[in-house]
Amino acid sequence: MKPVYPGSTVGVLGSGQLGRMFAIAARRMGYRVHTFSPDADTPTGQVADLEVIAPYDDLDAVRRFASNVSVVTFEFENVPEPTARAAAEHAPVRPRGEVLHTTQHRIREKTFLTKAGLPLTPFRTVETSADLARAVAELGCPSILKTADFGYDGKGQVRVTSADQAEAAWTSIGRVPAVLEAFIGFEKEVSVVAARGADGQYADWGVIENRHRNHILDLSISPAAVEESVANQAREIARAVLEALDVVGVLCVEFFVEPGGRLMINELAPRPHNSGHLTFDSSVTSQFEQQLRAVCGLPLGSTELLCPSAMANLLGDVWHAGEPNWTAALKHPEVKLHLYGKLAPRTGRKMGHLTALAAAPPTALELAEAARTALISR
Ligand code: AMP
Repeated sequence: MKPVYPGSTVGVLGSGQLGRMFAIAARRMGYRVHTFSPDADTPTGQVADLEVIAPYDDLDAVRRFASNVSVVTFEFENVPEPTARAAAEHAPVRPRGEVLHTTQHRIREKTFLTKAGLPLTPFRTVETSADLARAVAELGCPSILKTADFGYDGKGQVRVTSADQAEAAWTSIGRVPAVLEAFIGFEKEVSVVAARGADGQYADWGVIENRHRNHILDLSISPAAVEESVANQAREIARAVLEALDVVGVLCVEFFVEPGGRLMINELAPRPHNSGHLTFDSSVTSQFEQQLRAVCGLPLGSTELLCPSAMANLLGDVWHAGEPNWTAALKHPEVKLHLYGKLAPRTGRKMGHLTALAAAPPTALELAEAARTALISR
């Protein structure tokens, strides 16, 4: 395919904050952006040239959308496969719909990783009560039962604490196809956000440390404090994942690091990732610009880190006591504020993030947390 040059129109399936930051990067480089989702006045729609509002299963609307753009990408990984296929009739879809298909379903994703010989959390497939009983006997307790479909930020997950409680746990997530995962007593969680160009060129932003609260990403720190050998291994694994999946675009590999440095893949996200938001401020090329370059068939930009950084997510909870104290947070001149234009600050909803830059990662982390605390100060 010929490169898609600036001035062309890029289509984004999905309309959340990932699409918004992608659209900002794309518009900066002179592209037009169309977004497609069932919602109106969305984070992406607010900065796109055109916001198409239709359900994902309105395949005629999807075909019309795709015929008006030069390339289609997505920011929402649960775009149904028929939607990606309908779009592909009219424009290249990058990454390919097959990448979505594999990574939006835990059984398919884990089966792919196993076949590719990559290290992942021990798991068993659960489709019947007999599967569940066998899985619990083999993996032991505690373990975590996760729905195969549509899981993110800890949704559709339940901890199994004893064999007696396993049936009730499965019932609580709807007795749908699931995976049981061994519970990992990890030392750290890290990610590698990586990109692959249409010509196979590879780039990543090194290893980023992630801390979660209530299963939702809370803080990211770059670069992660891990041994060089662990960092190199994580990057090699990420590269192998992108190559095996033949990804054109950005993909994030999330890992658990066990004591001793052993890495296990937790999950894949075939798009820019929350842990890579800090690249917007810390790196020569952000994950969003890189996604644009990759899907447009252009050379990738440098992923060199200009400065250590840390990111603190801003959930709707920050608004509980009223308008956040923006002045107090922005009093820190090395802190950058990103807000996604969401209208209702619901509890647990990702409304924005802060990125702090500093000479060393621990200082960046302290600064990001201090700025976030300042937001709720009176
Ligand atoms: P997930 O949506 O699968 O990434 O899970 C969200 C978070 O739950 C992870 O980032 C971990 O903090 C925790 N978690 C998920 N699976 C496991 C596991 N097998 N062992 C320990 N913690 C887990």
